Amino acid sequence: MRKLAAWTLGLTAALGALYWWYAADSRMPADADFALDLAEMRRLADSLPGDKPGEIRYEKVTAFAFPGAMIVAGDAWAKQEMPVYAYQLVYPDHTAMIDAAMTRDLAKPDFMIPYFDEAAQHRVEAALERASFILITHEHSDHSGGVLQHPRLAALLPALRLTQVQLEHQQYMKPATVPTATFAGYQPLRYERMAAVAPGVVAVAAAGHTPGSQMVYVRQADGRELLFLGDVSWKRRNIAAQRERPRFVTEWLIGEDRHAVFGQLKTLHRLAGEAPGLKQVPGHDGEAIAELTAAGFLKAGFIQTGSP
Ligand SMILES: [Zn+2]
Repeated sequence: MRKLAAWTLGLTAALGALYWWYAADSRMPADADFALDLAEMRRLADSLPGDKPGEIRYEKVTAFAFPGAMIVAGDAWAKQEMPVYAYQLVYPDHTAMIDAAMTRDLAKPDFMIPYFDEAAQHRVEAALERASFILITHEHSDHSGGVLQHPRLAALLPALRLTQVQLEHQQYMKPATVPTATFAGYQPLRYERMAAVAPGVVAVAAAGHTPGSQMVYVRQADGRELLFLGDVSWKRRNIAAQRERPRFVTEWLIGEDRHAVFGQLKTLHRLAGEAPGLKQVPGHDGEAIAELTAAGFLKAGFIQTGSP
C-alpha cells in the first residue's frame, strides 16, 4: 500500500513537471534580446521620395479558435478568437498590401470558428490584384495563403515582395502550395536587417516564429506610426505579460526559435515604453484592432479603387 502511494505521488510529480515545462513555463531568458534601431527605422521610412500612405485598412476573413493556454503559456484553456486579417495601405494614387489572409480551402474546420467571410476574402483577392506591392509578414498560410492560392498568382508576382528567406522556406507555407515552376526567375526581396520598401514602409527582419518572419513599420502621411508584428506575438498580452506561447506549441506544433521570439517580446515591450505613439499590431488580436480602429490608426474594410 505504501509502495502504491509512493508510486502515485512520483507519477503525479512527474506529470506535473511535464505539464509545467510544456504548457506553463514562460520564463524570459536573461540573455534574450533583439536589436531594433528605432531611429534607423524612422529614417528609412522617410528615405524614399513620394507620398506616404494616407490610411491603412483591413479585412477580417476568418478566425481561429485557440485555447488561451496555446496563446500565452500558463493562461486558462478557454477558447479565444484569433482573427485572420489582411491590410491595405492606401496611397493617394495606388494601394499596397501587408499580408493576404487565407482562402477557404486552407481554413481547417477543426481550428476555426464556424465563420468564413467569402465577401471579405473576395475583396482581399481583388485588392491583391491592384496592389503596387505586397509584403507578407511570414510564411504561414493564414498570412501568405491568400496570395499563394490566388487564381491569378502569376500576374501578382511583379508586385509580390516575398523575401529571399521566405522563398527558401516554402515548407512553412503548407498547406498552401505553389507549383515549383511558379517562382522560376522570381526576384525576392533581399535585405539583412531593415529595408525601405516604399515611402513610409520599412521591412524589419525578425526570424524566430518562422525563419522568414519580418515586422513591417508604416508611417502614415499624417505621421501616425504602426508596427505590424506578424506573429511575433499573437496577442498584445504576449508583450505586456512578457510571456511566449507554451513549449507544446512552439516546439511541437510550430517549431519556432523560442529564444529569438523571447528577445523580440522583450524589445517590443521596451519599445512600447519608449515610443508609446508607435502602435504595435499583433498577428491575431481582435481587441487591439478594435482599439486601433477607434483611435483612427486603422479603418475597417478595403477600398475598391486604386490603380488597376
Ligand atoms: Zn498567423
